[in-house]
Amino acid sequence: MSAAEKTILDTLQSVFGYESFRGDQQAIIEHVVGGGDALVLMPTGGGKSLCYQIPALIRAGTGVVVSPLIALMQDQVDALTELGVRAAFLNSTQDWHTAREVEQAFLTGQLDLLYVAPERLLTERCLDLLERGTIALFAIDEAHCVSQWGHDFRPEYLELSILSERWPQVPRIALTATATTVTRREIAHRLNLDGARHFVSSFDRPNIRYRIIEKAEVKRQLLHFIQTEYPGDCGIVYALSRARVEETADFLCQHGIAALPYHAGLSATVRADNQARFLREDGRVIVATIAFGMGINKPDVRFVAHIDLPKSVEGYYQETGRAGRDGLPATAWLAYGLQDVVQLRRMIDGSAGDDLFRRRLGAQLDAMLGLCETVSCRRQRLLAYFDQTIEPCGNCDTCLEPPQAWDGTVAAQKILSTVYRLWRERGQRFGAGHLIDIVRGKTTERIKQYDHQTLSVFGVGADLSDQAWRGVLRQLLAQSLLAIDHEGYGTLALTSASREVLKGEKTLMLRRESEKQARTGRSTAA
Ligand code: ADP
Ligand code: ZN
Repeated sequence: MSAAEKTILDTLQSVFGYESFRGDQQAIIEHVVGGGDALVLMPTGGGKSLCYQIPALIRAGTGVVVSPLIALMQDQVDALTELGVRAAFLNSTQDWHTAREVEQAFLTGQLDLLYVAPERLLTERCLDLLERGTIALFAIDEAHCVSQWGHDFRPEYLELSILSERWPQVPRIALTATATTVTRREIAHRLNLDGARHFVSSFDRPNIRYRIIEKAEVKRQLLHFIQTEYPGDCGIVYALSRARVEETADFLCQHGIAALPYHAGLSATVRADNQARFLREDGRVIVATIAFGMGINKPDVRFVAHIDLPKSVEGYYQETGRAGRDGLPATAWLAYGLQDVVQLRRMIDGSAGDDLFRRRLGAQLDAMLGLCETVSCRRQRLLAYFDQTIEPCGNCDTCLEPPQAWDGTVAAQKILSTVYRLWRERGQRFGAGHLIDIVRGKTTERIKQYDHQTLSVFGVGADLSDQAWRGVLRQLLAQSLLAIDHEGYGTLALTSASREVLKGEKTLMLRRESEKQARTGRSTAA
């Protein structure tokens, strides 16, 4: 063992009390101690912090950590102080006097680590301060915040390239748990880290069991899932809107589950309070929008449930990654249905921004839908998105209970030709529910009102259940063989790709849902 390796291992053991390094930690630390730039991609819970904390302790001067997570700085500093590391932070929650003390400590070389929010760092005063002290390294945490395509985008991150201009000799280490090749390239490019060495860990979290079920009555499905599988355990439930967060938290509370809401519409005090209770108390379930979770380090979250479809695989991976950080079995549970696809497609069509932006959002959603509809291993599909290859995992719903695929070509033709006829013959467009009523041959009030029982397609699909038809429509939407009509409210229209199916030039293999799963929110293998 070289002297440098020995110092690094000594620091791990004597300061942090750990026996040995995990994964790439040692290689990363050696590289940064030696003055190299690094881009570190490691899943949540992988142990990114040590990768800059140990080099900061070994190199002369202070390690400056740029982090957007102001709310967590106090906790981080407290934890380090406990270990005897000289750490402090500078952010807007501090009074002037405290900030002055921290600045003095930095200038006189009494700090090993200094945490700073990006907007603070970029002030002239702060840059000036840094000029006057000794810097061991810059760590840029949550580096994916530089990506304009992600939902954590922070404009100030774009200006962090200034660090390389003003301190070209100081090593920089950027860290993130977000890992597509595209994001990685974007981080390297925008942070001026073109020469940095990349350390890419495996993104597999083998202890998380991925399950995606078809949405029916989602609150009941969720309740059943928690009550039967994780009663009294800690979990996070993600929903798309504030209203749904509130309504779901209420519902769970009414049924004896200690749920707390969290979203940007709550006051800062309530949010901080709910977050603190979730972190400190046992068995809390937090129901939240995606505003919740970045930087949350709670090891015993047993499940992460999504009651609405996430907008991208990256977001989904980040959010589910908050489950089971202690390495014990945990579940990522997602319920999604036809309405999710309709809603998200409409949201994208209606979103501000140029065509390219919308196309990108569309592609992200397509990847997410692909993951939902896959008939092969979920984990394989998930990791493939991050350019990582694995064997089927044996710990996801499709591995444990392989779904059947069925030839849905004829069913698809029936529903697509219904859409076609309504439009061509009568200039009408309808949403999913009414289309299903037509093909199933139900004489509802609405059917009579529009005289739809006289259509030649009326009743041609009586052989399949409502649920099966919703599955067909969902998968057609997922594959862009049907589209949401721009003018209508969730009414459906053909796409340029529909023609191939209608003409019988394309075979469509569809995923068959287990009826039991939809009823109970639980896969039979679980
Ligand atoms: P990340 O920032 O990648 O999400 P952290 O740095 O917060 O992860 O580390 C996650 C947990 O793993 C922490 O509790 C940390 O103390 C622990 N940890 C990190 N490295 C090691 C190691 N080499 N041995 C044991 N525990 C470790
Ligand atoms: Zn699998």
